[in-house]
Amino acid sequence: MFELSPTSINMFLRCQLQYQFRYIEGVKVPPSSAMVLGRSVHKALEENFRQKKESFEDLKVEDVLDIYSDAFEEYSKEVEKWEGDKGKEKDKGAKATKLYMEEKAKEINPDEVEEKIEIPVDEELKLVGYRDIRTVEGAIIDFKTTNAAKKEIPFDYKLQLNIYALKDDSLNAEIHFIVKKNNPQIISLKHPLNSEIQVAELAKSIKEQIKTGIFVPTGLSHQWACNYCGFKEIGLCNYKK
Ligand code: SF4
Repeated sequence: MFELSPTSINMFLRCQLQYQFRYIEGVKVPPSSAMVLGRSVHKALEENFRQKKESFEDLKVEDVLDIYSDAFEEYSKEVEKWEGDKGKEKDKGAKATKLYMEEKAKEINPDEVEEKIEIPVDEELKLVGYRDIRTVEGAIIDFKTTNAAKKEIPFDYKLQLNIYALKDDSLNAEIHFIVKKNNPQIISLKHPLNSEIQVAELAKSIKEQIKTGIFVPTGLSHQWACNYCGFKEIGLCNYKK
């Protein structure tokens, strides 16, 4: 049985060779400092909304920041090369988390948090993933930590929301961009679920390509894929040094 997630599909679309390294050969690269920050913010918000499902109340901001801090220290252990000053990076994430809790969290009534979804596509393929939040009002919300403010949702995030929306009759989907600057921002952008992306058809064509065992270094023609490729960093890619 083939399993494709939003992350693996987006990696395949970015660079088939990256996909081969990660999902066929099982190679993992150490996380970047940006990934650690993003995962830590995500963990803190996840814990808040997980308990809010039962309590209907947000945690105190300082408690959420404690969760953020613990997660940051734990995930930092995996970083091999820190970009920038670790303490300053940690502060940026803390400020952004605080702002989210003060500005946005109160609007969210979670019904499901980190819910695993599995959507059969055909007899040998299913789509899988974890939805950050589904609200009691039927909206799907995904958090993204970013360096710069966004005016529109990038394709890879739209694809992710479209996959998540296949599970049920969600009314709308949105990305909450958590901009981790010294003056952080929270930007919510909605994605119309009647988008023209046909994710099931796309997933089927990727499955057929994977079956061939041929993985082309398509990242070479991507705008930035090679610049941020961990497989290049560890010397695995023969096409880009
Ligand atoms: S360096 Fe570029 S071509 Fe090579 S695996 Fe990474 S993204 Fe693909």
